[in-house]
Amino acid sequence: MYRSHTCGELRASHINTEVTLAGWVQGVRDKGFMVYMDLRDRYGIIQLYFDEEQTQAALLKKAQKLGREFVIQITGKVQERASKNPNIPTGDIEILVSELNILNEALLPPFTIEDKTDGGEDLRMKYRYLDIRRNPVKDSLIFRHKVTQEVRNYLSNEGFIEVETPYLIKSTPEGARDFVVPSRMNEGQFYALPQSPQTFKQLLMVGGLDKYFQIVKCFRDEDLRADRQPEFTQIDCEMAFIEQEDILNTFEGLTRHLLKEIKGIDIDKFPRMQYDDAMRLYGNDKPDIRFEMRFGELNEVAQHKDFNVFNKAELVVGIAVPGGNSYTRKEIDKLIDWVKRPQVGALGMVYCRCNEDSSFKSSVDKFYDQEDLGKWAEATGAKPGDLICVLSGETHKVRTQLSALRMELAERLGLRKPDEFAPLWVMDFPLLEWDEDTERYHAMHHPFTAPKPGQIELLKTDPGAVKANAYDLVLNGNEIGGGSIRIHDKETQSLMFDYLGFTPEEAKAQFGFLMDAFQYGAPPHGGLAFGLDRLVAILGGQETIRDFIAFPKNNAGRDVMIDAPAPIDDDQLEELSLKLNLKS
Ligand code: ASP
Repeated sequence: MYRSHTCGELRASHINTEVTLAGWVQGVRDKGFMVYMDLRDRYGIIQLYFDEEQTQAALLKKAQKLGREFVIQITGKVQERASKNPNIPTGDIEILVSELNILNEALLPPFTIEDKTDGGEDLRMKYRYLDIRRNPVKDSLIFRHKVTQEVRNYLSNEGFIEVETPYLIKSTPEGARDFVVPSRMNEGQFYALPQSPQTFKQLLMVGGLDKYFQIVKCFRDEDLRADRQPEFTQIDCEMAFIEQEDILNTFEGLTRHLLKEIKGIDIDKFPRMQYDDAMRLYGNDKPDIRFEMRFGELNEVAQHKDFNVFNKAELVVGIAVPGGNSYTRKEIDKLIDWVKRPQVGALGMVYCRCNEDSSFKSSVDKFYDQEDLGKWAEATGAKPGDLICVLSGETHKVRTQLSALRMELAERLGLRKPDEFAPLWVMDFPLLEWDEDTERYHAMHHPFTAPKPGQIELLKTDPGAVKANAYDLVLNGNEIGGGSIRIHDKETQSLMFDYLGFTPEEAKAQFGFLMDAFQYGAPPHGGLAFGLDRLVAILGGQETIRDFIAFPKNNAGRDVMIDAPAPIDDDQLEELSLKLNLKS
């Protein structure tokens, strides 16, 4: 028996009990004639005590030699502590040690294993196993376990079956590049790692499984933006014989269950918003609705005066900043600099102060009178004491810029409260999206998404206007899940591939298996996937997903602990019939 108890569970009620514990030495305080030591395991910390009077001399000596992070096993008696520590649950007691067994020695750790450590991110990632010993990381992993457990409970109770799908597959286009794996046995051929199990889960529906889920790794070779991981985890789901409404209800139920079980929060029916409205009112398809600051379009009231900047613009749009009239001129200038930063990219910003006496003072008073500015206030919902910020230009760009400003200001105003949760369905996404680089349409969600009933004809005349039965679940300004009703007949799917620029041969080579399957009785089906890493981070009240992943990759996609990716041997290359043609 390695231990009779864990370090975290002992209390005053255990006084005089003989216990055996095992764990890591957190720290040693050696006073010569007595030694205090903290012993740590996953469950907590407890003080160990040795002294000249009660401990054999050899044992005291042995204790004095222990270093941080040594792994030890001790036996001793629980006793009351002379000076109690109210900050830890075991703070009333300590163990008077009678036996000490060193299970393993340890080098001095490169950073302190404490809640607030002195180790920088890179160092902590290199020694991630030491980082995991720290409470913030350990607790995040335990928290993730709790969330996934609740997901499994909920979906299993709803009749979903967890099915594993393969990792070595053929490419599924979900908008990113594939990671590829060379096949030794099939010279010159490659597997792709799944960007998601999309086609497999659809095939499970053809297979009659009806309700599927999987907590599954997905792989996307994207240029890494902050807080993205090349491998990430989805809660992937699919249902057959359903309508969009069934899916929304089921997964709203799952999200509500998680908020209730994990956060103790009851949320009523989730609001729904059309994609077009989300773009118009928040400039964004994942609006944070914990606060208002909605966009007010000003074309009608601000154009056709003598202010050419606005007259030339496709869109003139503003937001009201609550209490913003208190900003000094300098602060407003700083805000203007902020929107002009390359990351935001606005050319400038017009502002209008809404004074307490209901008068207005704008940066363009030369062109607009009080009545005009009153209309701006009306359109943006500005009240006396607010500041109206206005941007203008090309619609899509301006919306993105103002949306960035809205989020920044909300952050500064403390409106993005981590303990408040505001879920939202964004619905009816466009089916296709124009890609400037390749000069063609791409599927906005993925090519298996069904157009809205009756809109298939529109594909020929106005492809950009076709809406899809596609939906995203948004939580606090983050897309936490997304999915769609799928195409389930061969004709529509071929047509879709055709519109996306696949030749019939290419479509057959890549997706022949799916179109074949559709000819053998495919039921109507649809589904969605949640991004588990992000969901857990948001529920945990954090912005970054890295602390919720045991062994994350850094921003360059590297695992600095195992030092991957790494070159492979010439022999391995030879075996795979591969030759490198390095660019640098
Ligand atoms: N496969 C999709 C994704 O990864 C989700 C879905 O449509 O179910 O975003």
